[in-house]
Amino acid sequence: MSGGYLLIVIISTVLGILAQGYIQRTYSQWAQIPVSTGETGEQVSRRMLNQLGASSVGIATVAGRLTDHYDPRDNNLHLSQENRMGGSVASVAVACHEAGHAVQNAIGYKPMQIRAALVPVTNLASQSWMLAFYAGFMFNMLGIVRLAVILFGVTLVFQLVTLPVEFDASARALSFIRGGSGLDETAFEGARKVLFAAALTYVAGALMSSLQFLWMLGQTRDRR
Ligand SMILES: [Zn+2]
Repeated sequence: MSGGYLLIVIISTVLGILAQGYIQRTYSQWAQIPVSTGETGEQVSRRMLNQLGASSVGIATVAGRLTDHYDPRDNNLHLSQENRMGGSVASVAVACHEAGHAVQNAIGYKPMQIRAALVPVTNLASQSWMLAFYAGFMFNMLGIVRLAVILFGVTLVFQLVTLPVEFDASARALSFIRGGSGLDETAFEGARKVLFAAALTYVAGALMSSLQFLWMLGQTRDRR
């Protein structure tokens, strides 16, 4: 049990550190390059929202760095101070990515709806799989271990459904930046690199969870 698990922990940790380092480096690099129009992340994402039929979406400030997200409950982009008020290529890329999520919501993009429907059951599963897994082993109850594997599987499905939602939001942002934004090619190239690095962190996370899921499945077989 411990040898295989240790290997997964090491691979996951290294992958996670590499992905985090890559997004931090790429973001920091493009955070130093202002967009040619002199606009802020808020101004460009506002134009994107208006142009793509999501003009009723609000824009608010959220504390922290790279904490930016779109919340369908209040229909607001929550942008970090740096990306809302800043006018760098990185700020505009992140703000337009979040606007991409708002557009997904406005047009009823299916994968986003599936993802949202999975949130309550995923919260429950992510809070309980570990307890069930270790309790199942401790009391030698294979049924409980299997339940834990199913619960973890739910969190994995959620991570996998998140991938197309994230890729699509970035694709909408890049399409706007290149097509209708009036920004230059440098902004497009930089945004492409920043959003690719951000997507890698989601892919790395899903890969790590897939490895862990396979390992957990193996544990239920060894005990048979
Ligand atoms: Zn996103």
